[in-house]
Amino acid sequence: MLHSLTGKSPPASDAMALSKKAEVLGIEYFLVSFTDLFGAQRAKLVPAAAIDEMAKNGAGFAGFATWLDMSPADADLFAVPDPSTLVQLPWKPQVGWLAANLKMNEKSVEQAPRNILCRLLKEAQDAGYRIKTGVECEFFVVNPDGDTIADGGDIQDKPCYDQMALMRRYEVVTEICNAMLSLGWQPYQNDHEDANGQFEMNWQFDDALKTADRHVFFKYMVKSIAEKYGLRATFMPKPFANLTGSGCHTHVSLWRDGKNLFFDSSDELGLSRLGYHFIGGVIHHADAICAITNPTVNSYKRINAPRTTSGATWAPNSVTYTGNNRTHMIRIPEPGRFELRLADGAANPYLLQAAVLAAGLDGIKHERDPGTRCDFNMYTDGHLVGDVKRLPLNLLDALRALESSELVAKTLGPEFVTAYTKLRAAEWNAYTSQLTDWERRNTLDC
Ligand code: ADP
Ligand code: MG
Ligand code: MG
Ligand code: MG
Ligand code: MG
Repeated sequence: MLHSLTGKSPPASDAMALSKKAEVLGIEYFLVSFTDLFGAQRAKLVPAAAIDEMAKNGAGFAGFATWLDMSPADADLFAVPDPSTLVQLPWKPQVGWLAANLKMNEKSVEQAPRNILCRLLKEAQDAGYRIKTGVECEFFVVNPDGDTIADGGDIQDKPCYDQMALMRRYEVVTEICNAMLSLGWQPYQNDHEDANGQFEMNWQFDDALKTADRHVFFKYMVKSIAEKYGLRATFMPKPFANLTGSGCHTHVSLWRDGKNLFFDSSDELGLSRLGYHFIGGVIHHADAICAITNPTVNSYKRINAPRTTSGATWAPNSVTYTGNNRTHMIRIPEPGRFELRLADGAANPYLLQAAVLAAGLDGIKHERDPGTRCDFNMYTDGHLVGDVKRLPLNLLDALRALESSELVAKTLGPEFVTAYTKLRAAEWNAYTSQLTDWERRNTLDC
């Protein structure tokens, strides 16, 4: 029988030593895992007999070998696991996964993504706010070489909700969904999405840190279970140029004492003034946080994109908000929450939550006005909307906006800004140094 310590009725108490929990649950090894700035998950596999010592001092890593902007001459990097995150792998119950925070020379690593989110959540909590979020992590199922959609029969121009294609993936999808059920995540639906080979699986929103840890784990789980079936799952934002890309829509509400502060039944969309200010902050800082929500070269092929074969990209191209209309950056689908449709599958789960929180709280602090809602169909009538703010067109523009943002430096921290812009700019430079077929075709005869 599978257990989860993150579920509703934990079989072992949180205070219990991890080695003891291992005994109770039949865990032989622990994966002490952390997520670096590029969202890569790195881990050490620690035998249960050594876990208590490791939990105290952390598992050691060479920081330079990860995306954290460290030097080979730096001291050891230690990943100190948070015992409350323990998940017994549903597909390999002899292993327990633990999310970790990072330390070096006895100090918190300022640019480590989970450390940043924990710090910002503490500040929000001190200001009396509890942020609850849900993420929709779209992904493709492709062949192991990554070049083609795994299901050769999945060829419709409008493949969204395709019942046959969904059911041809029944084993994979239900194994993942059963895992979420056993972990107490309260999953409620699974579907085939708008691109051939693309799926989405939804679970219930929760506190932002819990959502971020689950988001990290979900990516690991989906990839692992797909691999079991000889398949490959990818969260790459735009793996196929003519098909809809993979987003990571982020739903947000803010709570105090069990009350949703974004809810106001007297507003036409059911959103409070506080909610509009939060949205005002996200709109104000959208270009500055775009290098976080849309972190790769490839991300900019999903947003600002031409129409796909299904008829719509479902991704935003303007910094606008609306009611229940899926063509804008922010949608208010129902009273008491909003959906940010900007982020994609490459977004770092911790930095995504941190960036949204930072921008939103700044909106509240400065009572930022999001302007009037825009109800145009942005895919067909975007040109009719007057002077509207546009999203960065590529990673370089987004990085420049992030680098010059006072808000990002003040909230996510100067260490983060330095490390992130340095590593991502290097990635941009590596990309632009490629000599492509397109250039040859279009420049040979210049
Ligand atoms: P859609 O595809 O219509 O955008 P989904 O059902 O796929 O929506 O995803 C909605 C997400 O929003 C889920 O994770 C859900 O739990 C979350 N959500 C619902 N209400 C709230 C709320 N008040 N605060 C934060 N997230 C919420
Ligand atoms: Mg060694
Ligand atoms: Mg959805
Ligand atoms: Mg979707
Ligand atoms: Mg959505």
